[in-house]
Formats: sequence, C-alpha cells, structure tokens
Amino acid sequence: MSIYLVLMGAPGAGKGTQAKKLEDELGLPHISTGELFRYNLKNETELGKLAQTYINKGNLVPDNITVAMVRERLTQDDCKNGAILDGFPRNPAQADALEQLLSEFNGEISVVPYIHVDQDYLVERLLKRAEIEGRADDNEETIRARMLVFEEQTQPLLDYYEERGLLVRVDGDQSIDDVAQELFKVVRVKL
Ligand code: AMP
Repeated sequence: MSIYLVLMGAPGAGKGTQAKKLEDELGLPHISTGELFRYNLKNETELGKLAQTYINKGNLVPDNITVAMVRERLTQDDCKNGAILDGFPRNPAQADALEQLLSEFNGEISVVPYIHVDQDYLVERLLKRAEIEGRADDNEETIRARMLVFEEQTQPLLDYYEERGLLVRVDGDQSIDDVAQELFKVVRVKL
C-alpha cells in the first residue's frame, strides 16, 4: 500500500522547506500544488493562464482545476509508493476529492503533520521571503488575503484530521533543523 503524507501549516510556516527534508528522509516525492502552479505560470501554459488571477490575488484556484492537476501528478511513476503533499488539500471539498483519489490508487493518508507558527510572525517572515525570492504573490496585500483564506478554508481541515487521529502538531518556531528533527520523530511513529 502506498503512503501519503499531508503537510499542513499556514502560509510561511515552512511547509516547502520541511517537505524537501521529508522527501530526502522518506524517499517519497514532494508534491507542492503552489510550485506546480508557479511552474505553469512561468511557462505560460493553459493551466497557468487559468490559475493566474486567483494566485495573484491570494485566492484559491478553483477545486476542479486543482484536483485535476493533483490527479495527473499522482499518476506519474515516481508516486507509485506514495507522496508528500504540500499545500493540498486546502479546503474540505479538496479533502474529499483526495480521499477519492487515494482510494483509486489503493492508498490512504498515513499522517498529517501540522507545522504550527504564531500568525504574528508569519506575515513578517513572508515579507522577508518576498525580498529574497521575489514571488509575485508575496506582497503585503496578497499575504493578508492568503492568511484569511487559510483561517477560513484550510483551518477546518485541522479538526477534520484530528478527529480521524491523523494530525500531529510540530512546533514550527524553532530552527529549520530542529523542526525537521521533530517532524521526522512524529512521522516515524505513524508510519
Ligand atoms: P503556496 O505556494 O502553497 O502558498 O500556493 C501559492 C498559491 O497557489 C495559493 O495562494 C493559491 O492561489 C494557489 N494554490 C496552491 N495550492 C492550492 C490548492 N490546493 N487549491 C487552490 N489553490 C492553490
């Protein structure tokens, strides 16, 4: 049976950084819907054009587009043993779609690590990242919109996964390596 991890955390909590560390640790591919969208934006694909206005405003790209993209990615060969999902699902409808997808692939979610960081630090962190990486959606207005989307649409998923005994909380307000060590420890218990 394939293993799927769903990495959760508010924008700027360090999901991408930690997902890459988990990828090395577990030998499972890291799938970031944000990165997939950015790749499509950069290459001006049809998908990129469809997603652009949503991303630039900090809103969620419609579920049908996002789910189709994830389905396509999960069917690729490197995902045959599972994957580390980063940035998906982001609302209850996507969580339902993921269940369906995984049952098709004969897999299930093994663990949902939640990297928790105080919201006050996050805006600051994201503004710093904006200077370094120059991501188009890292300006203050969009950052605030993404925070709101997280609170309203994504946060309910934390309860959903907690009720199912899958959520494990990790303190994201530590050095990158310390977060990674804690993450590996809690994940190993569940695998
Ligand atoms: P991220 O890199 O995960 O912060 O994602 C950047 C942007 O891509 C988000 O603000 C959304 O506009 C879009 N996006 C990423 N993942 C999803 C998703 N699961 N559903 C809808 N939109 C998404």
